[in-house]
Amino acid sequence: MLSVGAPPLSGGTRLAAVIGDPVRHSLSPTIHNAAFAELGLDWVYLALPVVAGAGRDAVDAMRTLALGGLSVTMPHKADVLAGVDRVSAAAAELGAANCLAWSDSEVVAHNTDGQGFVDSLHVDAGVDPAGRAAVVLGAGGAARAVVRALASAGAAEVVVVNRTRAHADATVALAPTVARVGEVGDVTTAEIVVNATSVGMGLPADDPDGSPVPPGALQAGQTVIDLVYQPVRTGLLAAAEGCGAQAVDGIGMLVHQAGHAFTLWTGLPAPLDAMRVAAREAIALTG
Ligand code: NAP
Repeated sequence: MLSVGAPPLSGGTRLAAVIGDPVRHSLSPTIHNAAFAELGLDWVYLALPVVAGAGRDAVDAMRTLALGGLSVTMPHKADVLAGVDRVSAAAAELGAANCLAWSDSEVVAHNTDGQGFVDSLHVDAGVDPAGRAAVVLGAGGAARAVVRALASAGAAEVVVVNRTRAHADATVALAPTVARVGEVGDVTTAEIVVNATSVGMGLPADDPDGSPVPPGALQAGQTVIDLVYQPVRTGLLAAAEGCGAQAVDGIGMLVHQAGHAFTLWTGLPAPLDAMRVAAREAIALTG
């Protein structure tokens, strides 16, 4: 429901949306509608359920309906690539898009997760990954974007630690000159530790299953980022705080990747503060 105080819709209102299945839980409508409202733009953002296998049809619908832009979530991140006019380097290398935007009359597939992660490192943690050693826990879609982005940003080493070895190997192949497969013990010597697994999701910070690393693995001086943002303060971040490491939550990446999408659609700098407030409020409400 549009909140009280939202600008009225008009004949010129542009529509942006997220496609996925399920999408009811998505925070993207909250974040993007807050951004449109903050800048007084005549845009609105909806969550559109699109069944598996229909991602390509949704790209055609973007053209037919002249949508302003689309966010893409599971299960369509790979499928949409076949339907667009052009694919960005990041989306092509990752084999996945999270954002479709117009470039003149072409629909272009982008992946803004990696840039959103690196922005969060810079802005939220004050850390430049160039020359640093990182451990990335996980080898799914988020981990792949993070590994590629860390390598592009000049990280000295990126160690990928994952439950399923084949997924780790495929992720390392995205950045073969700096990445290697490692073990959870590699965490102790890393300067940057990233949880890109889903471990910790939906668990209170004191749950013994809420952290992907054993107690005592972290130490002061490290920057520890958990991409899990529900809850905001995870078991991993609690452990990081407990030993004096820098703890950075996943809202930063969530907001920065959305900010890049916003700019691709509107051509305007994203109102990141308003987007961050909206995301935090929505997470606080939903738990
Ligand atoms: P995904 O593609 O499904 O990958 C999940 C990863 O977690 C895989 O590496 C998987 O290992 C690992 N994993 C799952 N359960 C595990 C367990 N019990 N023990 C050890 N490893 C386990 O998911 P994703 O899209 O990459 O998302 C991963 C997390 O990042 C989610 O919590 C998501 O909400 C979060 N995320 C946050 C942002 C943000 O902006 N903050 C953006 C994207 C994702 P296997 O390979 O062995 O299956």
